[in-house]
Amino acid sequence: MRVLVISDIHANLNALEAVLENAGEFDATWCLGDLVGYGPDPNECVDRIRDLPQLECLVGNHDHAAIGLIPFSRFNNDAQSAASWTMKTLTKSNRDYLLSLQPSLVNDTFTLAHGSPREPIWEYILDAQIADRNFEAFKTDYCLVGHSHIPLIFHRASEISYSVPWVVPEDGPFSLLPRMILNPGSVGQPRDLDPRAAYGLLDLDTNTWEARRVGYDVTDVQLRILKAGLPERQATRLVAGW
Ligand SMILES: [Zn+2]
Repeated sequence: MRVLVISDIHANLNALEAVLENAGEFDATWCLGDLVGYGPDPNECVDRIRDLPQLECLVGNHDHAAIGLIPFSRFNNDAQSAASWTMKTLTKSNRDYLLSLQPSLVNDTFTLAHGSPREPIWEYILDAQIADRNFEAFKTDYCLVGHSHIPLIFHRASEISYSVPWVVPEDGPFSLLPRMILNPGSVGQPRDLDPRAAYGLLDLDTNTWEARRVGYDVTDVQLRILKAGLPERQATRLVAGW
């Protein structure tokens, strides 16, 4: 079974469509949250994701802000105005859908969390130390997280060893080892200085993970961000990949 793993779409429909086209055929979709916030297409993105096959979907901190579960004061000025615009723009059906989601879940061999298994809404797993503490917080072989907008892999070989960051392979699928934390990166707002949309493909039959990137029409999204009256920085950062 092929699973499409996406995260941090942030209302960027162009990036989402490019990922769906690039992914080819897949049987299930795991979405790690932050469907909205920052970008100009919140309803279009939520509608598109809700239609994906065998969907398991988490809610993220920006989704929570857009449905009133987190005060805007917890965000910087740009994110606040984007959250307020998104709140006004979301349809009732999409708002109710986001309200129905949890920030983490566990299936057979995978734990899914927006930020981290021990603090699913807010914590960023960006270094081996934080990864180490989070290996204590899940029991499945693998944990998938988003939130940092950076593709990352951490492995901890045994309970008495330390976790090690892996270079994310760019040349196709690689075999998973038990006890890994994997981040597919962000579809709609990458922050690793590569503006292309990032996502992951998981093959549960061969037990492999493939980190992929795909370019899309950034200029079109930028124009629509400005036309919607969203903060200019949300447009400029898409080119920089930051
Ligand atoms: Zn995000």
